[in-house]
Amino acid sequence: MSERLVAKDLAAAVAEVCQACGKDPHRLMDIVRGVQKHAGHISGEAMSLIAGELGIPRVEVESVVSFYSFYSDTPQGRIVIRLCNDVIDRLAGADGVAQVFCDELGIGIGETTPDGAIHLTTTPCIGMCDQAPAALIDDVVVTSLNTDRARDIVRGLKEHKDPRRLIWTLGDGNNADDLVQAMVQNNIRHRGQVILSDYDEGQGLEKALALSPAEVIRAVNNARLRGRGGAGFPAGMKWQFTRDADGDRKFIICNADEGEPGTFKDRVVLTERADLMFEGMTIAGYAIGAAEGLIYLRGEYAYLEDYLTSLIDARRDKGFLGQDILGKAGFNFDIRIQMGAGSYICGEETALISSCEGQRGDPKTRPPFPAQEGYLKCPTVVNNVETFCAVSRILDKGAGWFARMGSSGSSGTKLLSISGDCRSPGVYEVEFGTKLSEVLKMVGAERVQAVQMGGPSGQLVGPGDFERTICYDDLATGGAMMVFNKDRDLLQIVDEFMEFFIDESCGYCTPCRVGNVLLRQALGEVIAGRATAADLDRLAELATSVKTASRCGLGQTSPNPILSSLERFRPVYEARLRAEDDGLIPSFDLADAVGEAAAIAGRPSAHTKA
Ligand code: SF4
Repeated sequence: MSERLVAKDLAAAVAEVCQACGKDPHRLMDIVRGVQKHAGHISGEAMSLIAGELGIPRVEVESVVSFYSFYSDTPQGRIVIRLCNDVIDRLAGADGVAQVFCDELGIGIGETTPDGAIHLTTTPCIGMCDQAPAALIDDVVVTSLNTDRARDIVRGLKEHKDPRRLIWTLGDGNNADDLVQAMVQNNIRHRGQVILSDYDEGQGLEKALALSPAEVIRAVNNARLRGRGGAGFPAGMKWQFTRDADGDRKFIICNADEGEPGTFKDRVVLTERADLMFEGMTIAGYAIGAAEGLIYLRGEYAYLEDYLTSLIDARRDKGFLGQDILGKAGFNFDIRIQMGAGSYICGEETALISSCEGQRGDPKTRPPFPAQEGYLKCPTVVNNVETFCAVSRILDKGAGWFARMGSSGSSGTKLLSISGDCRSPGVYEVEFGTKLSEVLKMVGAERVQAVQMGGPSGQLVGPGDFERTICYDDLATGGAMMVFNKDRDLLQIVDEFMEFFIDESCGYCTPCRVGNVLLRQALGEVIAGRATAADLDRLAELATSVKTASRCGLGQTSPNPILSSLERFRPVYEARLRAEDDGLIPSFDLADAVGEAAAIAGRPSAHTKA
């Protein structure tokens, strides 16, 4: 095929993809994804063509392509293998699995086989910590890997070149649905009354539409529902702000971008309770006066896209979405799926909005808050998957029913994704107010040294905290719990969390972009046995500065692993300190510090003779 013909094909493909998205620049994420599917990568030529079709500067396309890890401006293999390398996967043997992939393919991480067939890379958490080690092969999830399976996978791919043929068993529940066909297991270990119990489709929506929008918001307020994303902001209050905000066009966005390592509960809800979530979004639309909803689905869960699309279509057929919903004249609401593309920061609500608008996932300055000026500068409610599910239940079963569960400041139940050193990793729905020790018993965790609550951005807690309760006013968590037994090296784990934040920082502000690198370097000195007690104080000071000065939630929470482990596990740090203290700072290497200057000057330093 001549280059000219290839170029012609590319132009036609770009035109077709752009046309399918209404040539809307706000759909740039979908357009880039569509073109990459066709061409394998987004070349400079493709960027120019997209920019031309949409009438936007090429730099805007380039900026999106370079931001998201699932997009590439250079040719990758026809098949892309992404090995999950988060802490839990590595504890489960991901490094050995990765080595087998490298050996069998004859390439290193980040490389492509010489025939252009397979590209091998790593990625942070893909939401499968309960069945680690896991990997994404294109959109196909492979779980519970070991070195033998890794070998079989490579040999199979070399033979048939079809990732779908790698699925050697189907998972439970809807994972076996024709439109999912995934080997993922739900691992639902404990069902509470709100999210994972059986429910009657449409009941919550029907009861909501019998009320006025103000009464719906009052019910959510009376239930004392707080957003399940982690911050715990009262959902009804957020809705009221959005309802009261100026503007005829309002939006509902469901944040289904659970990128926090160790979190996978939304995966299970999306697989088994997606209708409950769609129903909650529709009720929210009615309450605030919105006609449009988006669900931002993380790129790692692309295997659920067709299934979720079919559910949305079915809801239209049943009259749960569309015009005059359930006969309520004038109430129109519909939902579309917005795919993410591998960026942790997009879990932050303003970054998520940027991404939905077809931009880099840069957080926005607040105020204005999304309730006043969100998606497309319109008032927008952003809640997460679990929150919308709870809304449906509240409207169905009543605010009092919901408020009676849980603790005084945290009503209802909480979904927990529990992984690490325990017999039964999986999803547990427990009432708020449950003691951490009870949960650890439930999951079969023994000889526990520490638990990371809420993923890397949360807190590392120890035995002194095990009698505390899980709720917003005590041990708060967005849902992740990673258990580490007494054989684990906590400092190594904290180091991996810091590496994760460095990789995921958007780089906009200096405290986060530079501060996290300095924090990791300082931690590395402790791990290497070159630090003194004074270095620990400096480490804590720097961590506090990064928290205080960073612009968004990522930088404001990234030092938490260091600060919480220093607070609760200081002896672990102290055991690594250099014993003697001669007044010098051992972690400061003078020769290293002046090395670059000496090289520029072309002579050794008089102080180091280096
Ligand atoms: Fe970006 Fe980090 Fe600053 Fe947030 S804190 S804006 S992620 S650099």
